[in-house]
Amino acid sequence: MRLITSPFPVSLRRPCSRSPAPRPRPYARLEYEMVAARRPETRWATRLIPVFLAGCVGFATYVVVKRICLDFYINDQKQSRTAAIFLAFYFVFLLLMLAAYLRVFLVIQYNPGVVPLGPRASQQKQHWNERPKRSKRGSRARDDDVESIRDVASRDENPDSPGLEDFYSKDVFVCDFDGRPLWCSTCCNWKPDRAHHCSELDRCVRKMDHYCPWVGGIIGETSFKFFVQFTFYTTLYCIIAISAGALCLKTLVASGAGVDGFVVGVFGIGGFFGLFTFTMTLSAGRYILVNLTNVDHLKSKTLVHQLAIRVPRGTEPGIDYGVVTYPLPKPISSPRLSGQTVAFEHLSKRDQLAVRTFAIVRTEIGENPWDLGYYRNWKSIMGSNIIDWLLPFNRSPCEGSETGESFYEMGPLYHELRTRFRLPELSEEKTERVPRGTRGEREMASVEKQRERRRQQQQQQQQRQPSQPPREHGSPSSSGS
Ligand SMILES: [Zn+2]
Repeated sequence: MRLITSPFPVSLRRPCSRSPAPRPRPYARLEYEMVAARRPETRWATRLIPVFLAGCVGFATYVVVKRICLDFYINDQKQSRTAAIFLAFYFVFLLLMLAAYLRVFLVIQYNPGVVPLGPRASQQKQHWNERPKRSKRGSRARDDDVESIRDVASRDENPDSPGLEDFYSKDVFVCDFDGRPLWCSTCCNWKPDRAHHCSELDRCVRKMDHYCPWVGGIIGETSFKFFVQFTFYTTLYCIIAISAGALCLKTLVASGAGVDGFVVGVFGIGGFFGLFTFTMTLSAGRYILVNLTNVDHLKSKTLVHQLAIRVPRGTEPGIDYGVVTYPLPKPISSPRLSGQTVAFEHLSKRDQLAVRTFAIVRTEIGENPWDLGYYRNWKSIMGSNIIDWLLPFNRSPCEGSETGESFYEMGPLYHELRTRFRLPELSEEKTERVPRGTRGEREMASVEKQRERRRQQQQQQQQRQPSQPPREHGSPSSSGS
C-alpha cells in the first residue's frame, strides 16, 4: 500500500462527493478598485502635490517659451533657429511627460493592483462603511478597535479556506513553513506571490514598489512601467529647460545685462526635479533588469524564498525538504485515522486525481526565482517592442500574466531548484493531469468521466451476456460479491 506523508496532524482527505459549492476566485483576474491612503495627511499630500507640480510646469513653460525663446532668442538675439530647437524639444518632452503622468495617475486611482480583502476584512469594511458619519468621526477609540481586530486576525486554518485552491492548482507558489501560502493578517487573505502589504493603503499590493505621493499613490505591478516612463521623460524635460536657461544666463552674464530671476528660478526647479527623477530612473531601470521591486531590493540581502514546488502525488519528504498535500486534510476525531498518513489507494480514482503534492524548498539568500535574464525581465515589464517602451499606452505584459503554472513566469532557478533538491519529475502525472478550473468544475469533470466509464462497462457486459440484465452497482445481487 502506498502512503502519502502529510505534515498535518490529521490526514484523511475531505470527502469529494459532496455537491460543489460556488467559490470566489479572488486571484483569477485583476481587481479594479479605488483605494485611498489610510492617513488623512497622506491623502491631502496626494491631492495637493499634483497642483504644486502643475504650478511648476506652468511657471517653467512661461519662462522657457515666453522669456527665453520668444523675448530673448527671437526678439533680442535674433536666433530663431536656436529658439525653434528648444521649443520643439521642450514641447515633445512636455507632451510625453504629461501623457505618462496622466497614465500613471489614472492607473493608480482606478487600478492600483490591490489584492482583494478576505471575507472577514470585507465584512468589517462593510460594517464600517455602513456606520453613520457622526459615529465615524466621534469615536476614535472604536476606530482603533476595528483596526485592532484586523491587525491580529490569525491565519485561516480551515482546509477549505477560500482562495487556497488558486495556489495549489499551480505548479509552484511562495509558501510558509508548512506549505500553505503566505497570509496577510490585516487583509485577512492569502497573499499571491510577490504581493506586499502597504501600510499607507492598508492593503496588499501586487509587486508593490513604493508609495509615491508625487504621482498620487502606490506604485506596483499595474503602474510601474508608466512611472518609469514618467521619470524618464521628466528627466529629459528638465534637461531641456536647464539647457535653455543655462545658455540664456551665460549670454546675459557675458553681455553684462544682468541675471534674469525667472530664468534662475527655472534653473533651480529644473535642477531639483531633474536630479530627483534621474536618480529614480536609474534605480528603476536597474530593478527592471533584475526583476526586483524596491521592496524586494531592500530585503534582498537577507531574504530567502520558500517555494512549494509540485511533485508527483505521494512523494515522500526528502532529507532537505518537506512535503505538503492538497486539498488539505480535514480534522477528524477517529483515533485510528489521526496519524500522519493517509491511505492513498483507499481514495477513489476521482479523489486521487484531485490530490496534488508539493515539496517545500528554500532558495539561497539573494536568489530570485523570477529572474528571467536582463532582456526578458525588461520585456516582461516594459513590453516587447520599442513603441511599448517609449509610449505609455500598453500595460506591462507581466500584469495579469498569471497562468496555471505560477503567478509570474519563473526563471531558470525554478528548474535548478528541482535539480538541487533532486525532486522527482512530474512526467508520470502529466499524462493524467487534473483538469484546470474550480473545484466544482474538476469534480464535475471527474464525475462525467466515471459515468462514461460505467456506461462503457455496462455496454460491454450487455454484449457479452445479452440474455441477462446488467447488474446495478450496489444492488442486492452484487452486494455479496
Ligand atoms: Zn495585506
